[in-house]
Amino acid sequence: MIGSGYGAAVAALRLTEAGVPTLMLEMGQSWSGGASASFCGMRSPDERSTWFAERTRAPLSSFLWMDLANRTIRRHAGVLDRVDFDEMSVYVGRGVGGGSLVNGAMAVTPRRDYLAETLPCVDVPEMYRTHFPRARAELGVNEIDPDWFETCRSYAYARLSRKQAHRAGLATTFVPSVYDFDYLRREEEGSVPRSALAAEVIYGNNHGKRSLDQTYLAAALRTGYLTIRTLHEVREIELEPDGRYTLTAREIDAEGTLLGVRRFGTDRLFLGAGSLGSTELLLRARETGRLPGLSTEVGRGWGGNGNVMLGRANHLWNTTGRLQSAMPALGIDNWDDPEHPVFAEVAPVPVGVETWLSLYLAITRNPERGRFSYDLATDSARLCWSAAQGQPAIDAAKATFDRINRANRTIYRYDLFGGTRPFENRFTYHPLGGVVLDKATDAYGRVRGYRNLYVTDGALIPGSTGVNPFVTITALAERNLERVLAEDVQPA
Ligand code: FAD
Repeated sequence: MIGSGYGAAVAALRLTEAGVPTLMLEMGQSWSGGASASFCGMRSPDERSTWFAERTRAPLSSFLWMDLANRTIRRHAGVLDRVDFDEMSVYVGRGVGGGSLVNGAMAVTPRRDYLAETLPCVDVPEMYRTHFPRARAELGVNEIDPDWFETCRSYAYARLSRKQAHRAGLATTFVPSVYDFDYLRREEEGSVPRSALAAEVIYGNNHGKRSLDQTYLAAALRTGYLTIRTLHEVREIELEPDGRYTLTAREIDAEGTLLGVRRFGTDRLFLGAGSLGSTELLLRARETGRLPGLSTEVGRGWGGNGNVMLGRANHLWNTTGRLQSAMPALGIDNWDDPEHPVFAEVAPVPVGVETWLSLYLAITRNPERGRFSYDLATDSARLCWSAAQGQPAIDAAKATFDRINRANRTIYRYDLFGGTRPFENRFTYHPLGGVVLDKATDAYGRVRGYRNLYVTDGALIPGSTGVNPFVTITALAERNLERVLAEDVQPA
């Protein structure tokens, strides 16, 4: 198994429950126990924050045109990586648990009609009957107590955004989470150490969050059949004449020193290295002739879930509060808009002072798709994605937030993303696609052209889920694993 994010964690649990000894190779560190067991907060990031960089690279890069968020740091195997392509940057988690370590914990089930449209080979009623409930239960999804939401200090910013959205005639919805809302309430009462209330987001949470190392992966480890090797980056996949796969991995220490190049053999291989990681591994294998029979579909169908970040400036009397929960709990749901569907999370700005800033991460329905090619010179995947392809996402976000600004006589913030651009769509938190289900694989993630080779992560989803994606990735992996276990794997 390569990687340890959502797709890989589901595969690990279901295989080990069936008694299949499983080795997981993860390029990042383990953050649950040992020397690197604690995360740094967003306000004073150190080397734990960022994957081998000299300076942190926070998504909200400036405030009043000043870079207040970023720090110079030591190069280290930190938890958040930003992979830069020509006109798109992709944020990903690095460590045992993948994106679950760094993400905002928003656990949203997609709309049925949109799931049916994006993944037509999937039995949609079965997904909602079986696989979404299973995924939500294993992930530990919980809902906020609506009464507490109305009175707590830490969601004043969300209540303000809700009022302003309603004034524009837009619907809002509570967003389920894998952050424990009961823990959050106790943080506000002062009876437990703070995490969401201590600006812990994007660089990991020391408390409160049910990341995969506490849920799926912990359960898989309890079976006794899972072994996890950290700081192992898989570079190559080869097929041996006897049908087994050989993996070549670079083992490093947390400072980046190469400890050795290791080889591992397996008769069954699951790729769970995420949209970027799994796509790159298969592209490299195809283009270097190691797995020449891979489909030409490998590398296609990539999208960033139409992500656009934006801020609005509030009037002086509309304060957002000094104490802000770093875990979002509210969304603006304008997905039914026939021209410009948008689902926007009301994002925190947990800097500890009043900013009068309302921040949003909008998910839009951008039909544009990118494509990866393999660059021999750098031995890496290159994303072909142009700024022009991001325009439909900006148009959609603008249509929704122009309405909110008009209704509230407010304006956009122009100081947040460098220059004077009010919308930031040159990065995504939600990379999806590259090895699309029923195209580069069969309808259950079996890679076309090879036996016993599977993709189990966000690479399967063609570019868009319409909501935050990890619940969909988890449920889809549950569905695929159920079939693969029944048909391909002999019980131990
Ligand atoms: P990942 O979780 O990305 O896991 C892939 C793993 O594979 C990583 O640990 C990586 O280090 C490892 N890997 C990669 N290549 C190799 C290799 N060659 N060898 C060994 N290991 C490798 N989604 C939501 O639904 N809700 C949210 O609130 C939310 N907030 C987010 C906030 C941030 C800051 C970010 C970055 C993401 C957020 N997401 C959110 C997105 C979500 O986390 C991802 O969609 C999800 O983690 C993808 O799951 P995955 O299984 O595809 O892969």
